[in-house]
Amino acid sequence: MKKITIAIDGHSSTGKSTMAKALAKRIGYAYVDTGAMYRAVTLFALRNKLIKGDKVDEKALKEHLKHGDITITFRPTKEGKSVTVLNGRNVERYIRSMRVSNVVSIIAAIGFVRKAMVKQQQAMGKDKGLVMDGRDIGTVVFPDAEMKVFATASAEVRAQRRFDELRAKGDTTTTFDEVLANVTERDRIDSTRKESPLRQADDAMVLDNSHMTIEEQNEWLYQLYLERANR
Ligand code: C5P
Repeated sequence: MKKITIAIDGHSSTGKSTMAKALAKRIGYAYVDTGAMYRAVTLFALRNKLIKGDKVDEKALKEHLKHGDITITFRPTKEGKSVTVLNGRNVERYIRSMRVSNVVSIIAAIGFVRKAMVKQQQAMGKDKGLVMDGRDIGTVVFPDAEMKVFATASAEVRAQRRFDELRAKGDTTTTFDEVLANVTERDRIDSTRKESPLRQADDAMVLDNSHMTIEEQNEWLYQLYLERANR
């Protein structure tokens, strides 16, 4: 079987990372969560007070990126998971907060931020054998990927999943309506931005998982992988 590149794109909170992780584990591929990279840049910007409301100090952010002040890596844990590391520190917990979710799409719409992230992502995938999830993987990062998936589900189903996740992590204040508004707003910004907007690649297979179990979804992906890796 040949080694391939697997690109999983789609709307916010469609469970892309869960499915990408499960597939990567099953087939022994590396997994890269590109959303975590944009979230880490956002956390850096927040911590350095480069975001005021929805305004970003782009000049300062550009300088930081240029000087190598923002290093993002992934570290495997003893439990076989992977955590996001910003400048040597595990930031996994902080990048998933609503504080970051609320502004990440603004940071991800900036051209020079995308350029820097895409360059790193292409380097990570140069030897193939990886599953990468995001918004522009099949269209911009790896337009030649052998397997492209576009994941979607109704906004309500997606908001409910994210809401359950926040509650499970101990967030007792964020309401369902706030999560729904965030999911819808991120879709809007992601799909209408000038720089690599979220769109389905012409050769992507659509996976609408509104009414699918995780097992069904994993099997769907695995069968598609077998077909593509044997082509
Ligand atoms: O995947 P996740 O929801 O964690 O991504 C957070 C945000 O990062 C998205 O809402 C989107 O604005 C941005 N993103 C992006 N391109 C990617 C991955 C994420 O613009 N490849």
